Amino acid sequence: MPYALDPPPQASLPVIGGEATFPVRRVYCCGLNYARHAREMGIDATQPPIFFLKPADNVINEGGRVPYPPATEDLQYEIELVVAIARGGRDISPANAPDHVFGYAAGIDLTRRDRQRDAQASRMPWEASKTFDAAAPVSAIRPVADTGHPAAGRIWLAVDGETRQESDIADMIWPVPQVIAHLSTLFTLAPGDLLFTGTPEGVGPVSRGQRITGGVDGVGELAVEIV
Ligand code: MN
Repeated sequence: MPYALDPPPQASLPVIGGEATFPVRRVYCCGLNYARHAREMGIDATQPPIFFLKPADNVINEGGRVPYPPATEDLQYEIELVVAIARGGRDISPANAPDHVFGYAAGIDLTRRDRQRDAQASRMPWEASKTFDAAAPVSAIRPVADTGHPAAGRIWLAVDGETRQESDIADMIWPVPQVIAHLSTLFTLAPGDLLFTGTPEGVGPVSRGQRITGGVDGVGELAVEIV
């Protein structure tokens, strides 16, 4: 039977060194995975990792433009290592987790921080803080054949060339295999899933006209413009 409407376009990301693009299914995000960031948010990060999702159509590619979202006066950046999943599954063990990975990228978990504070204060859902058009800029994906499974390396973000976040992915409270293992106890992972793995300290606001650059050494870099 034909669709009543044209089906929405499939979100996808370029793959470094490849002709084919990576089709995005779900975008999972891990919160509070760096101790100094948890502290700057005033939250005790001794609990198991927490997860939320962004819709796949929030993903934009490297070099894209982010329309400043409505209903906020405090749009903030969070640079993160992103994992691209090639093989699905549930109850994946940390030891087997690397076998499920297609590759790695750098991404920015853009956040309406004022809406997040409201949601936290009122104990209400926080989708509006994390979900809006272009809320998930991601670099091209570097396949595992190229990167291996990076466990250490500088993660950084700059606004108009001025460094705002600079840390190391080795500082994650839950390393990538543990994050995948935890996530797969809650959700059945599938090929095409992306996983943002949390941001280090130094998050802050960005305004219209500013350019954000960021990356993870050995993985990738991206630049976006807030318009
Ligand atoms: Mn985040």
